[in-house]
Amino acid sequence: MGNLYYYPEFDVIRDKDKCTTCRVCEKQCAFGVHFYDENKKIMMEDATKCVNCNRCVVFCPTKAIKIVKNEMSIRENANWGLNLVTEVYKQAETGGVLLSSMGNPNKNPSYFDRILINASQVTNPPIDPLREPMETKVFLGKKSEDIVRDKDGNLIPNMDPQLELSMPLMFSAMSYGSISLNAHKALAQASRELGILYNTGEGGLHESLYEYKDNTIVQVASGRFGVHKDYLEAGVAIEIKMGQGAKPGIGGHLPGTKMIGDVSKTRMVPEGTDAISPAPHHDIYSIEDLRQLVDSLKEVTEYKKPIIVKVAAVHNIAAIASGIARSGADIIVIDGYRGGTGAAPTRIRDNVGIPIELALAAVDQRLRDEGIRNNVSLVVGGSIRSSADVVKAVALGADCCYIGTAALLALGCHLCRACHTGKCNWGIATQNPELTKRLNPTVGKERLVNLLTAWNQEIKEIMGGMGINSIEALRGNRLMLRGIGMNEKELEILGIKHAGE
Ligand code: SF4
Ligand code: SF4
Repeated sequence: MGNLYYYPEFDVIRDKDKCTTCRVCEKQCAFGVHFYDENKKIMMEDATKCVNCNRCVVFCPTKAIKIVKNEMSIRENANWGLNLVTEVYKQAETGGVLLSSMGNPNKNPSYFDRILINASQVTNPPIDPLREPMETKVFLGKKSEDIVRDKDGNLIPNMDPQLELSMPLMFSAMSYGSISLNAHKALAQASRELGILYNTGEGGLHESLYEYKDNTIVQVASGRFGVHKDYLEAGVAIEIKMGQGAKPGIGGHLPGTKMIGDVSKTRMVPEGTDAISPAPHHDIYSIEDLRQLVDSLKEVTEYKKPIIVKVAAVHNIAAIASGIARSGADIIVIDGYRGGTGAAPTRIRDNVGIPIELALAAVDQRLRDEGIRNNVSLVVGGSIRSSADVVKAVALGADCCYIGTAALLALGCHLCRACHTGKCNWGIATQNPELTKRLNPTVGKERLVNLLTAWNQEIKEIMGGMGINSIEALRGNRLMLRGIGMNEKELEILGIKHAGE
């Protein structure tokens, strides 16, 4: 029956006086919005297809195009907002589950925005990061409880394997398939230059990226796509993905249309076949089962690599993390409900999981209470948007943060939320060769390096203002935080006082 019930979400406004009919917009838009009308000799548009990625706006040489929100499309009310009405129409039309990309866009509270950071004033003076040393280096992995010496008093090295990072930041898991090889290359190259790590995600590792071994985390997810001995050896750590913040309780899905060429070879999945990773790992139904997988991965890599377990932030996350810490894992990743995704069912993305701030504070406290905090490092992700979010996360108990969406923004993403279509006009979330070549990995690398260099400097400045000169001294230092506009329960879970106290 087609789209009879709703107007397009966006209007494409073209200034006819400025338009020279150069047809650049037509070439730039993979969604087929712009076309040339041979009879009228003018450019026309089909706004129903526009996702507002801004590619044509940026590349129009005369700046003749503007994309605006179509405010007049549906009569909303306080209960039935535009999105809900449109989604009902869409489902009535297709009978299908709604799919979305990127993170939860709803107006749920951001706790990071309601946490304020302390600064030193008269006593315990601030530190000037330009003149005094500031340490943002972090080591991830199990920390030894005691120092062991031989009979001559020499230290016996008894440290479990550690990951060394120049700053408390890493690039989170984004699979080859969900993003392009050029995007992966940019992440890998930036990681090497910055002295941090990027993560393969669940799609295996393209052979051209094996050279970035020292800056790679390889992921093992429930589908085991692209997992073999060489792959497990191709990184400095192995991450077992049990869950993801954007879609807790849900597996992964790469549509067959994206399963082409090298993606299919790397994943070890036939071309054109959907790659569906199941929601559970079919060999893990308990912490004991998880321990077996952790042990197997350690054994196959000769106990030289830390094992990471990634879970989504859900209601009983503190108890889950306590179990994982006892499973032999070296690092726990907690991914909050605002985390990005290449494709997720909309209802799951927007309604399942909990904010990362609450999950992190609860986990850190639980592990401290149980005396096992040093058994694991904590990494958090799920909408870390700025250096201030990083400082707040570390003060709440994180050792390090994963960033995904911010990294894609640095690469040129315009948050159009169309990743699941495979038509990303910015060459990031696509495998179309015409589109992937739009992202130059060297330029992308430079932009990622710039972003994280700036964040690292800002972290030093904020810490200096607090009178703190190392991440180690900031970690779990909740006295440095105050809440604003929160209730008693929220403050209690976060373990912080209200501003003014
Ligand atoms: S989808 Fe992007 S490139 Fe196409 S018309 Fe809309 S804003 Fe322009
Ligand atoms: S990665 Fe591409 S498709 Fe996805 S939100 Fe960003 S610009 Fe849009």
